[in-house]
Amino acid sequence: MWIGIDDTDSSTGMCTTYLAMVIAGTMDLDLIKFPRLVRLNPNIPWKTRGNAAISLNVGIGKGKKIKIGEFNSNEIYSYEYGDDSSLDERDILEKLKKIVEKYAVMDEEKTSPGIVVTRKKISEKLYWKAVRSVIDLNEIFSYLENASYFGYKYKRGLIGASSAISWKPKRKTYELLTYLPEDKWNGERFIDKKSVILMDKKIKTTFENFDYNNDHIAIKPETKTPVLFGIRGTNVNDLEMARKIVKSDPYFSYLIFETNQGTDDHLVKKKISEIKPYDSVILDCEVLEKPKTIPGGHVIFKVKDRTGEIFAAAYEKTKEFREIIKNLDVGDEIKIFGSVKKYPKTLNIEKILIKNLAEIKIKVIPICPKCGKKMESAGKNKGYRCRNCGTFTNEIKYEKIERNINPGLYQVPVIARRHLSKPVEFFR
Ligand SMILES: [Zn+2]
Repeated sequence: MWIGIDDTDSSTGMCTTYLAMVIAGTMDLDLIKFPRLVRLNPNIPWKTRGNAAISLNVGIGKGKKIKIGEFNSNEIYSYEYGDDSSLDERDILEKLKKIVEKYAVMDEEKTSPGIVVTRKKISEKLYWKAVRSVIDLNEIFSYLENASYFGYKYKRGLIGASSAISWKPKRKTYELLTYLPEDKWNGERFIDKKSVILMDKKIKTTFENFDYNNDHIAIKPETKTPVLFGIRGTNVNDLEMARKIVKSDPYFSYLIFETNQGTDDHLVKKKISEIKPYDSVILDCEVLEKPKTIPGGHVIFKVKDRTGEIFAAAYEKTKEFREIIKNLDVGDEIKIFGSVKKYPKTLNIEKILIKNLAEIKIKVIPICPKCGKKMESAGKNKGYRCRNCGTFTNEIKYEKIERNINPGLYQVPVIARRHLSKPVEFFR
């Protein structure tokens, strides 16, 4: 039986993934396969924080089992398959409502939790729409005809809850999340930097652990949530070892999720004229105007394709990535992986493939062919004269400018990376 939950957090607290932990640890149900952490369209303005929903397949576990977590030091297992014939949808929904009501940040205006329980999996079509565009709440009910569900307040959580159930993990990574005891959620938390670096270097299948250029521990959430740290990886078997290397405040609960993080599932190849608000796109284009730094430290430039023009930006938070962008010049052929908010329609760059650098030439003042001294301009478009020997020339000389970048695929640093963005390392 499938459970989906979304939108229980606020901009400053909670994390919907913690509810998967509570369900796995306190309800009399087994987890079939992995719990899922599903990121949806990152550009949607009414999302609470990371736009992450969860789904779980539950039942009476059968077949092989593997340990995937602990809840207050009790082991949590994932089973190969399961039997849900003895479970009652309505009964499970009532129990889930109690959990959601206990933990969701109901006093935050935007927070509108949704719970879905269904024996029948929801069409994958919904997932692709939820990760790439905008879904109206009214559309959701047609997907829920065979489900039991409950939505609070604006009921928007039903969108994420249903979409999380509909995800088929074909492209996937994993994340191991550790959780603080409830009385520590609002306090300062400690993670030993050296141990994170050691883990990063030792466990090669983990990613986005530490930002070396910006001295930033990326496994630690920016907000005070139940999560102490989260380790992302491509090989589930390495995560337990990675967890043990990290030194931190004590924790008694952790759980491994299957996720769509690092998959680029949000990106769609589009032309400029096709880009709509909240889209994430892959755009083949040409630099139309040289990048400029604007107040705030953002680097902005104009690009074009056959269908139109659009501004692209590397914002201040992308740090050293801006230095690469500043070196772009008119005529460079590039592929941008990025997204747009509503207005202004500016493409926020996540990754860039520099395909072909334009040849940039500048006029140079010639050297006198007779005496070897540097000549002088004789006025605009009037050639050059040698002040030393009087020699005159009409010949205009150009020099090719040495470009300070090379073709290749570049990405924003770990500190500015989006959950869904596929790291450049995965392309090699
Ligand atoms: Zn001369």
